[in-house]
Amino acid sequence: MSRIFSGVQPTGNLHLGNYLGAIRNFVGLQENYECIYCAVDMHAITVWQDPAALRSNTREVAAAYLAAGVDPKTSIIFAQSNVPAHAELAWIFNCIARLGWLNRMTQFKEKAGKNRENASLGLYAYPSLMAADILAYKATHVPVGEDQKQHLELTRDIAQKFNNDYGVDLFPIVEPLIFGEATRVMSLRDGSKKMSKSDPSDYSRITFTDDRDTIAKKLRKARTDADPLPGSEEGLENRPEAANLVGIYAALAESSKQDVLTEFGGSQFSTFKPILTELAVEKFGPVGEEMKRLMADPGHVDAILKEGAARAHKLTEPVMREVKEVVGFIAP
Ligand code: ATP
Ligand code: MG
Repeated sequence: MSRIFSGVQPTGNLHLGNYLGAIRNFVGLQENYECIYCAVDMHAITVWQDPAALRSNTREVAAAYLAAGVDPKTSIIFAQSNVPAHAELAWIFNCIARLGWLNRMTQFKEKAGKNRENASLGLYAYPSLMAADILAYKATHVPVGEDQKQHLELTRDIAQKFNNDYGVDLFPIVEPLIFGEATRVMSLRDGSKKMSKSDPSDYSRITFTDDRDTIAKKLRKARTDADPLPGSEEGLENRPEAANLVGIYAALAESSKQDVLTEFGGSQFSTFKPILTELAVEKFGPVGEEMKRLMADPGHVDAILKEGAARAHKLTEPVMREVKEVVGFIAP
């Protein structure tokens, strides 16, 4: 049986990239798979989080899942810190993963910046916790944005090494599910950087809470070159900002970049941006509205998280029993 696991960090500023690259894809998968969707609050604290904001942002991630169409009756929605297996298995994986593997992780290099000595140990070990998130459920498929591909390769390496070291076939080798026309939505201010919650500029991203005027303003100010849109995809080469806006349009319209260019090739950005704004307001706006509506009743969201954590915990129990037996820990 295939099982899906994915997570989003409750670090605030949930944005269009999180939606198009990950959360929107969670919804369709529910039809054919058992799905487990997590607000990964333990990942969030790898960089400083204000405690009150963390609690609110955790509810917001859950509300975003619900608003996008994740059904809590069939799928599991929960907060990572509510299920102890994540931290327990992460420790075991810390003893499997090699320093050399983690040294290659580009996300750590980007997030730690120049002052690497001052980065938290947790930020360095992040991919090991991510492997535990997935493998505590023996999940087989992980829907994520393009930026998480390297971490999923590490998850595969950890699973493989664990299985080899202990001579077992315990963990599956997971497959990333990276699909759609917007697997890597770029910053609206800089076509070479991905859209991120942690970008200091609010103009770099469209968020779940932006209203029509804010979306319009951010897209109006979005950096582009001066040329009109090309008629075919080859014309987007070396034009990262243009490629980004066309990709966003295609993803929102559920069409392809080529279809968008067939329709808008030759148009100036001054024409295209307002049309893109309308589409974003139509397709993304209602999700944000619903998220805000759900946030007005935190008790409801908390009840869903609580039930989800109980269901998730149950799924991890047999896996953790098996892992501890294999590793040689004495049964309690
Ligand atoms: P942070 O800056 O705090 O790392 P983030 O925007 O990268 O925030 P995450 O919580 O790390 O968000 O990632 C949640 C999901 O969203 C992951 O599946 C990730 O791959 C996806 N994702 C993040 N940014 C983008 C993006 N710009 N385009 C497409 N998918 C994205
Ligand atoms: Mg991230």
